[in-house]
Amino acid sequence: MIPVTSFAGKTVAVFGLGGSGLATCHALIAGGAHVIAFDDDAHKVAQAAEAKVGTADLRGIDWTTVAALILTPGVPLTHPKPHWSAQLAHHNGVEIIGDVELFCRERRKHAPDAPFVAITGTNGKSTTTALIAHLLRHAGRDVQMGGNIGVPVLNLAPLSPERHYVIECSSYQIDLAPSIDPTVGIMLNVTPDHIDRHGTIENYAAVKSRILGRAKIRIVGVDDDYGRGMAKNLMAMRRTIVPISIKEIVPHGYVGGEHNIYRTGGSEAEDIADLTGIGSLRGRHNMQNAVAAVAACSALGVDDKTLQEGLRSFPGLAHRMEQIGTNGAVLFVNDSKATNADSAAKALASFDNIYWIAGGLPKEGGIAGLAEFFPRIAKAYLVGQAAEDFAGTLEGRVPVARCGTLEVAVDHAARDALAAGKPAVVLLSPACASFDQFPNFEVRGDRFRDLVKTFINQT
Ligand code: ADP
Repeated sequence: MIPVTSFAGKTVAVFGLGGSGLATCHALIAGGAHVIAFDDDAHKVAQAAEAKVGTADLRGIDWTTVAALILTPGVPLTHPKPHWSAQLAHHNGVEIIGDVELFCRERRKHAPDAPFVAITGTNGKSTTTALIAHLLRHAGRDVQMGGNIGVPVLNLAPLSPERHYVIECSSYQIDLAPSIDPTVGIMLNVTPDHIDRHGTIENYAAVKSRILGRAKIRIVGVDDDYGRGMAKNLMAMRRTIVPISIKEIVPHGYVGGEHNIYRTGGSEAEDIADLTGIGSLRGRHNMQNAVAAVAACSALGVDDKTLQEGLRSFPGLAHRMEQIGTNGAVLFVNDSKATNADSAAKALASFDNIYWIAGGLPKEGGIAGLAEFFPRIAKAYLVGQAAEDFAGTLEGRVPVARCGTLEVAVDHAARDALAAGKPAVVLLSPACASFDQFPNFEVRGDRFRDLVKTFINQT
């Protein structure tokens, strides 16, 4: 745990007692603060009280004694409308911040030289964060990884000057971290998402860009309009940036080619890594993630040879084009995280001769936008509520089997792929949410993994 000492002797209100909220309470208490915690869910308040955290309805407390409101990132700060606790804090002139801000303040106070890599972007945050942590560990560094991935930031090991913190930041967390000042700030990409919580795409992009403002090294993905805009603004303010692209050659940055990663100077480019054959980094999107990770680790002094080795040994993340195993020439891939057509497109673009398992709780727009990938699909195995709608789109273009459940779909897809006797992929990339048949995409992916392992062991 990282004790939060910046509020020692003061009273702090904490709203939101999910995983990171409770971790925040304990870190504040360990640092000497007096905590008053609350949540709209009475069960969570009871759990906090059981864990010896002081609780009270924040509507009934004396706000003149409160030094700060620590808000969980899951709760609206501004849009669609501020949560009542944020309104109360605002009304009483109390600052509203989150756990990443507390971490930044602690780091400045106790270990300002501890390398801190902060990663954001609409897509690819978790993969890039995990890859950077892996590369740094491979280089022998002492690494802590957390934030929006895995462990809440204040539950990581205590700050020390040599310890590296690799922190995934959602836009909500950045919104609550006004002084975020990483050693390396990374903004991967911006596409419309979470607009309900940020009002407009411009505001969403502006929040994301704050990860760069005070960073020592600013790595900016310039392949979309918003990233390009951020790069332009920073350069207009005479700030140095490290641009990254997988679409064009950008000077003084890093570029992803078809297979290789290049470090660019003014006019020359140095070939520094090759992703050929690295199954965990398949697809153009992963090239962007790898380029960002290589740029970050190079900036922290990791040499090119170590980077190349580290890329080769990256195991990848579960549920994101995760390779489960092979049976003969058939590869089984779990991409359960692909809960919409855009994400499924990334996986479909990465393979040929696909036995595609799709469906679940449908999202608006269906799969009509995936038509360019239909020629890669040998057959589609449809499950869940979206099956009829997907079948309608695929009919006449791709052979379809209506399977109902994942169990049936895996069995049919695996048998068909094996029987065809050619290199093939059985791919779960549902283009749908999981909630019609599973609690979440993780449980869906875990079930798929179990079914595949059983199938492989039996054949
Ligand atoms: P995040 O943490 O931002 O949600 P992940 O690394 O978990 O991102 O990847 C989730 C999904 O997003 C992947 O399965 C893939 O479909 C897609 N994706 C990953 N990286 C990128 C990228 N750089 N650009 C676009 N899409 C991506």
